[in-house]
Amino acid sequence: RAKARGRGVWQIYDHGLLELDQRRAGLERILLNRENYGEMTVEFQPIVCLDTNSTVYAEALARWNNPGFGFIPPDEFIPVAEQLGAITELNGVLLREAANLASSWPVDLGVSFNLSALEISERGSSIRLLGLIESAGISPGRIQFEVTETAFLADLSTAKQELERLREAGCMIALDDFGSGHASVSYLRDLVFDVVKLDGSLTAEIEYSDRSRQILLGLIDLCHATGAKCVAEHVETLEQLMLIKAMGCDFAQGYYLGRPALGMPDLGGQRMSSPR
Ligand code: C2E
Ligand code: CA
Ligand code: CA
Ligand code: CA
Repeated sequence: RAKARGRGVWQIYDHGLLELDQRRAGLERILLNRENYGEMTVEFQPIVCLDTNSTVYAEALARWNNPGFGFIPPDEFIPVAEQLGAITELNGVLLREAANLASSWPVDLGVSFNLSALEISERGSSIRLLGLIESAGISPGRIQFEVTETAFLADLSTAKQELERLREAGCMIALDDFGSGHASVSYLRDLVFDVVKLDGSLTAEIEYSDRSRQILLGLIDLCHATGAKCVAEHVETLEQLMLIKAMGCDFAQGYYLGRPALGMPDLGGQRMSSPR
């Protein structure tokens, strides 16, 4: 009985396992047909500068509503696309869409785009990405690429070279989900980042826990010491916003500042004083 509530649940109820397998197989099937990528859209979530209170970047987040599956979260389909070797193609569609939309926005509002673990380790990926940006009619200076630590595991030296090319073209490079585990500090040592995004889990407890505040403060200082600016993720309350600002954090992102939504995000305003 106790087992049935834990992970063993799928071993006991075989039909459950079957359902999971079928979902996965179905997901693979619709991901292998790239005509389905046309069903995808991107939402944008504001990244706000804490000095000026204005939105400086909008993070593009993939959304997929499939007629058969309904809404599929990116946390579910991106890893499957990676395993199928379809991620470069899929992310290309998403980047083209995001860059096209953003090309009509004010020039001081940039787009922050998630690169996948695998594509940045492909030789020549920077040239391909810059080509996509150029054909969307947006300046590379308005694009920030977010990469996670796992992105480098495949081939660090190629990833490093490709990221350097993107930087030379004017793109910003951000280390995503910093502090969520893995070998974070060595990446900070070996690669140059313009921006470090502090994982949302680091923000969660700062109102209540002195230790959490100390850890976040230490990480902000560490990032600054490498020359990078910091974004605090998952800022959900005014109190958290005030705390990270007092710690010297540069940017903030989270539901308090704006949820992911279709279209250009709000450019800024009275957030510090009037919570929504
Ligand atoms: P991520 O890059 O860490 O993106 C931030 C996630 O946190 C988003 O979830 C966003 O909706 C969520 N979030 C933002 N503010 C808050 C908050 O205040 N509280 C909480 N609890 N959550 C917040 P989403 O959109 O479901 O994306 C999940 C992940 O999927 C992303 O994590 C990213 O790794 C991946 N992803 C999304 N779009 C793309 C894409 O176009 N390409 C690639 N390669 N990966 C993508
Ligand atoms: Ca991200
Ligand atoms: Ca993140
Ligand atoms: Ca994440």
